[in-house]
Amino acid sequence: MTIVLASTNKGKIKELKTLLPLFEIITMKDLFGDIDIIEDGFTFQENAIKKCKAIVDMIERNQVLEDFIVISDDSGLSVSELNNEPNIYSARYAREGASDEENIDKLIKNLKSKNLKTTPAFYTACIAIGYKKNIYTTHGWFYGDVIDEVRGDGGFGYDPMFIPTGYKQTLGELKDEIKKEISHRSIAIKLATKIIKTFK
Ligand code: IMP
Repeated sequence: MTIVLASTNKGKIKELKTLLPLFEIITMKDLFGDIDIIEDGFTFQENAIKKCKAIVDMIERNQVLEDFIVISDDSGLSVSELNNEPNIYSARYAREGASDEENIDKLIKNLKSKNLKTTPAFYTACIAIGYKKNIYTTHGWFYGDVIDEVRGDGGFGYDPMFIPTGYKQTLGELKDEIKKEISHRSIAIKLATKIIKTFK
């Protein structure tokens, strides 16, 4: 059984591959090259389902695989003191097509404008699983604080400014293995794996 990841985000793809070590994994780019799926949902779940369905439909229409599962991930960071921004707009916080650096700069600017040196935040991940006409979803959450500067260069996205609860370093400074154990994505993928194991 092949798992097709409905994502183009290199950071996510790297993490999803290590979180699903027992499966043969390819990405939507491997099958269809560079395609863009518009994310116009109002929740992580709506966007995850939309990406998952779009790739299931393309695979079926083009008959490129027979036995497959599609997995999509819609995720983001929410900062309580900023009305939960950037939330579902995490990837495009600074602008459509923004880089991680641009998004981080905008978040730091907004934290500084409220004199927030450190403040509670959490990541959300919704994983959608597409298999034989059905779509299943799971969620995971990861709590901590964001700080008004970047520290370390590990992880991706907002990781260099996110300190998980119980730690003193950012995800940019901590080893990948720590994030792998406790992240929003790993929690959602563990639940997704339970669902996948029931597929015949
Ligand atoms: P999506 O591709 O629309 O789901 O956007 C995901 C965005 O949320 C990424 O581009 C990051 O900015 C942020 N994000 C999601 N998960 C993580 C994570 O694990 N670490 C850091 N940033 C994340």
